[in-house]
Amino acid sequence: MSTHSTTSRVAPRPFEHPVYVTRPLLPDLQVYTAALQGIWQRQWLTNKGQLHDALERGLCDHLRVSHLSLVGSGTAGLMLAFRALELSGEAITTPLTSPATVNALTWCGLTPVFADIDPLELTLDPDAVERAITPRTRAIVGVHIYGIPCRIGPLQAIADRHALRVVYDAAHAFGTEIDGEPVLTWGDASILSFHATKLFNTAEGGAVVTPDPDLKRRIDLYKTLGIQDEITVAVPGINARMNELEAALGLANLPLVEGERRARGEIAHVYCGRLSALAGVECVAVPTGVRHSQHYFMVRVTGASPVSRDDLYERLKPFNVFARRYFYPLCSDFSFYRDCPSADPRNLPVATRVAQEVLSLPLYGALGTTAAHRICDMIEYVLRTDP
Ligand SMILES: *Cc1c(COP(=O)(O)O)cnc(C)c1O
Repeated sequence: MSTHSTTSRVAPRPFEHPVYVTRPLLPDLQVYTAALQGIWQRQWLTNKGQLHDALERGLCDHLRVSHLSLVGSGTAGLMLAFRALELSGEAITTPLTSPATVNALTWCGLTPVFADIDPLELTLDPDAVERAITPRTRAIVGVHIYGIPCRIGPLQAIADRHALRVVYDAAHAFGTEIDGEPVLTWGDASILSFHATKLFNTAEGGAVVTPDPDLKRRIDLYKTLGIQDEITVAVPGINARMNELEAALGLANLPLVEGERRARGEIAHVYCGRLSALAGVECVAVPTGVRHSQHYFMVRVTGASPVSRDDLYERLKPFNVFARRYFYPLCSDFSFYRDCPSADPRNLPVATRVAQEVLSLPLYGALGTTAAHRICDMIEYVLRTDP
């Protein structure tokens, strides 16, 4: 139990150094430099290197998936998947996501069509998806937002009924499981991001996961300029490879991920226990049967709170706490999507409200539960005092 007073009007002491929402997981430097020595000996920096292949195998084992292709970024992974699935026309997606999801569609010549989200789980609302289908719809692009799995069953049923592809942006879902099954096993493809801010990182990087060995082969081809052999370029591919320095970081970080997730779980437990007691603050719930990735810890600051989400966000800064409003503004509010008919806020009432409420709090193992208690003290203080 916390020994912290919940009634004191004395401002909590700010952190000495800035506390951001995340801090990259990094191995011991000696472990990484040992791997670099191998790279220097082999004189092999990229193009299907030994460490690249070892990380693909290691991730398949760790994530319990059959086929995985490492790529240069999550964004590139999305683009490669859309391209390798030969998608064109319209793709239905959520406005509450990273610009990467929607921009990757646009970059591949697809038309994003926004559908509203579920008010509790915050993932695509299957009924809204069904309503958004037109004769030009070719795919559903769901996002396991904050590590919460999409409504897999209903989305797949819609896709089956209308002969649509399903691609999941799983950038937040490294290790998310439903009833013991990795969420990555559903859909035609799932995309992971290994950017520095993600739970598992290779500084920059990502992966495409698919149950289809032929799709894995096509992704492998598309990520290396389409080069099949010395004299054959089979498809108009791009360079989206992961290099050996990134793969070495991934191999060194992989054994640390479970410990990091556990440490984050303890912090989330502190946050949830203390913050859900506050009027107007709701912790985004993990559905039953789901093992959470612990990618983000999200709260919603609702109308019942004495201060708005934006006020709380601003007033944490003097305490050296830099929360983030993921994902505000909605992608549908970007200047280049705003005029799409589906981007109208009247089409997206739930997402429009949620984007005003969500706040991501610092979550990384090295933060520790003592600092998490201090952040709760600060939030309690802000909620009960005028600026
Ligand atoms: C980070 C992120 C991406 C993009 O990944 P990069 O590796 O940065 O290209 C895609 N989708 C979501 C939801 C993300 O959070």
